[in-house]
Amino acid sequence: MGVPKQRHTKSRRDKRRMHLYLEEPTLAVCKKCGKPVLPHTACQNCGYYKGAEVIDVMKKLTKKEQKQKAKEMQERGEAGGGGKGQISLEELSKK
Ligand SMILES: [Zn+2]
Repeated sequence: MGVPKQRHTKSRRDKRRMHLYLEEPTLAVCKKCGKPVLPHTACQNCGYYKGAEVIDVMKKLTKKEQKQKAKEMQERGEAGGGGKGQISLEELSKK
């Protein structure tokens, strides 16, 4: 086994470790529910990807959780729908 001939200084050791760190993941925003999601990945909160439902989120939840989630989704859906309407109107006025 190879044995180091000379001791490396703290400075040299720390310079080597300069690149060892965790990076924060880049997150996109879910178009459906507005939660942060990993890009090119289905949303874990609402199960949507590219405007289509890919995962049945309700399946794994208990009845109580399902009810809560449905309520939350409805609230979000109404808020999102209003926002989308405004955006489309703005786009129309530009054209
Ligand atoms: Zn979502």
